[in-house]
Amino acid sequence: MSDTPSPALPKPHAPLHAQPASATELIHHPYQPPTVFAAPTFGVHKASTVLFDSVAAMRDTTWMDKSGYTYGLHGTPTSFLLEERICALEGGLQTLLVPSGLAALALVPMALLKAGDELLMPDNAYGPNKSLAEGELRNWGITHQFYDPMNPDDLAARISDKTRLVWLEAAGSVTLEFPDLPALARICRERGVTTALDNTWGAGIAFNPFDFGDGWGADISAHALTKYPSGGGDVLMGSVTTRDALLHKKLKLAHMRLGLGVGMNDVEMVLRSLPTVHLRYGAADRSARALARWASQQPAFVQVLHPALPGSPGHDHWRRLCAPAQARADAGDDSGAAASLFSVMLDPGCSPAQVDAFCDALRLFRLGYSWGGPISLVVPYHLDEMRSLPTTLTPGHLIRFAVGLERTADLQADLAQALSHALR
Ligand SMILES: *Cc1c(COP(=O)(O)O)cnc(C)c1O
Repeated sequence: MSDTPSPALPKPHAPLHAQPASATELIHHPYQPPTVFAAPTFGVHKASTVLFDSVAAMRDTTWMDKSGYTYGLHGTPTSFLLEERICALEGGLQTLLVPSGLAALALVPMALLKAGDELLMPDNAYGPNKSLAEGELRNWGITHQFYDPMNPDDLAARISDKTRLVWLEAAGSVTLEFPDLPALARICRERGVTTALDNTWGAGIAFNPFDFGDGWGADISAHALTKYPSGGGDVLMGSVTTRDALLHKKLKLAHMRLGLGVGMNDVEMVLRSLPTVHLRYGAADRSARALARWASQQPAFVQVLHPALPGSPGHDHWRRLCAPAQARADAGDDSGAAASLFSVMLDPGCSPAQVDAFCDALRLFRLGYSWGGPISLVVPYHLDEMRSLPTTLTPGHLIRFAVGLERTADLQADLAQALSHALR
């Protein structure tokens, strides 16, 4: 045994400094974890400020593309990742994330239109999109007209020298008529008018927003990620996807000027849900179709609106556009070819009180807006307050169901008990 003392063992969790760190040392803490971390999950990078190594790097970095990072509002690795995945889901080339589906709809005219321009929108467009045209856009000198989505000639007749943007939506909101998208898009293309599709219903799954079967599609796809991509009913987000670099640049400039960045906690939620979007879309589609078929046998429902139901307005257009997705589903693919929404016209002989009693009597279908989450929802509507143009829908009390992920048999029993309760 020698007298020399053995070298001191390092203490567990040896501090970098001899003394506990000051605030300054903590803020400027030098440790960097190894940059390579392989896992099937992704990192959640949150930042307002992004740091640069030099003034030259600061000046050289642009927010216009994904070559680097400048400021949290313009994205972090987390939002870049979701943008690329949404872009892939929809078959686009560029995607921007915005704080809600409605913000996605609003970004498009704000980026592309100016005073004196006109916007055309289907008469069954998502209600708040119509409100935007009737409110802010009108105040800014941008005019609009609603067109009959089921009559391409009506669209063609309304396009003028002032028309700069045409919204498309398939299926239409609440009433779910399915328009002849290839015909509508062709008219716009021939007249040189930009088209923007509200692609929330199709979600990039039921059909290709950039190819309606003839090699052509919409110029812009706006998507409420709040619905199926989130799938949890707990986050609001939207996306705007394009295949044209110039269009994307215009949208990106407006996105930057308006400060429409998204929070990375929300991005994380959508990234976490996205791998199951096809499964959830497909499962809810099968359930909704079974319920819509059952509903069409109930005498109290004088019309059932679901594009995959023969006889529903635009069924043939749905069948053509969504044939590839339907063929995949028929071949055993777990995905779907229609969103899990259907509407009914309740017998016009029912009183408004009976309509309310029916909706109130539902136990699993809860009263609430939005859709695409696990819970089934119901909303009664007044069609006459939603439309400017005549419709060919069967008169009745309009009720919209959004089918979630509960057992189909339980949902059917719920509809049946509410019907017998309200109509007894
Ligand atoms: C829900 C919805 C929107 C808006 O999405 P939010 O995130 O709720 O703003 C837009 N279009 C359609 C068709 C929708 O169903």
